[in-house]
Amino acid sequence: MKPNEGRLQTGEHILARIIENKINDAKVVIARFGKENEGSVDFSTSADLRTLNLEELERETNEIIKKELPVYKKLFKREEVERDFDLSKIPLSVNEIRIVEIEGFDKRPCRDPHVDNTMEIGYFKITKAERVGKDRYRFLFKI
Ligand SMILES: [Zn+2]
Repeated sequence: MKPNEGRLQTGEHILARIIENKINDAKVVIARFGKENEGSVDFSTSADLRTLNLEELERETNEIIKKELPVYKKLFKREEVERDFDLSKIPLSVNEIRIVEIEGFDKRPCRDPHVDNTMEIGYFKITKAERVGKDRYRFLFKI
């Protein structure tokens, strides 16, 4: 695991929840954590996400981080969680689904590393929002 991946991943979950709460049909397509302290997340939606105010998104993300929320990772049987989450991107051969929960804020399936408390993320900076295809938008961020 890259040294900052847990911080980037957990920050990405927070940003994803904030955007999904604002835009009804927005859904995460893929997140990437290529560079040491940078990442990106792509959403599919019929709305133009470039119209969102990046400063406001950044402020809201950091407000959640500062709440020092615990982050839980737990394995469930697929049938226990398939009603609550979209598992369509997870192959049917996968029987155990790992759910990452940011207490009281967000739950989503993810098998990657995450921090144990949101305060470990540090300051989360959103650097850019761009259109990368039809109904697809990418947010770039840094920690
Ligand atoms: Zn994750």
